[in-house]
Amino acid sequence: MRLALFGAEGKVGASLLPVLERAGHSVKGIEIGDEPDVRGLDAAVDFTTPEAAPRNVRAALEQRVSCVVGTTGWDPQPLHQLAAANDLRLFVAPNFSIGAVLMMRFAKQASEYFPRAEIIELHSETKKDAPSGTARATADLIGGDPVIHSVRLPGLVAHQEVIFGSNGQLLTIRHDTTARESFADGVLLALAKLDSLPPGLTVGLEALL
Ligand code: NAP
Repeated sequence: MRLALFGAEGKVGASLLPVLERAGHSVKGIEIGDEPDVRGLDAAVDFTTPEAAPRNVRAALEQRVSCVVGTTGWDPQPLHQLAAANDLRLFVAPNFSIGAVLMMRFAKQASEYFPRAEIIELHSETKKDAPSGTARATADLIGGDPVIHSVRLPGLVAHQEVIFGSNGQLLTIRHDTTARESFADGVLLALAKLDSLPPGLTVGLEALL
């Protein structure tokens, strides 16, 4: 596919770009300050900031280009209509790592038996939003409004623990992303399945599995 990559020089973007190219896609990197010109491309991928992503996605949809978005900390719902009305796809995933999606699935399963839980999410100190999109999505899935603890330190990539407590027992479900390449397989999957999604907004990698 002919792709645009918003945030190509960011931490995720820089590790994603070579993977996309090795998979046979041609990639136009778009950084802050560049014109968001994506006309004629097959899809746009965005890993930027909560402030930039809505503007980038709107610009892409207005140029009739579907989007795959990993940026967290923003609400894509207001752009559903624009995508749907133009027969375009807007796919947004708070986490593109398959292990993280399974962690959320197992946490949902556990929540049926353990009504009390707290979430600890740990990320690199440069992550701009807190709590993480994955932590918020997990909280929604397991219900009961669990407390979310956010840790931001150098040395971390992306990690999450869901701790369930009950009488005399604890259950911890943990996922660790140790390298940013873990997100690339999910992005490739989303691009491969983009056309098979319904027009408008789809949220979460689990919708593709
Ligand atoms: P990052 O290193 O800060 O990268 C963001 C990049 O976007 C920077 O290069 C930034 O440029 C650039 N940028 C800012 N505004 C832009 C604009 N208007 N147009 C184009 N590029 C723009 O952050 P990151 O760690 O790569 O993470 C990016 C986003 O992805 C965050 O929201 C993070 O939470 C999310 N994320 C999602 C997943 C997932 O699986 N869904 C995984 C990891 C991260 P400057 O540096 O010049 O400002």
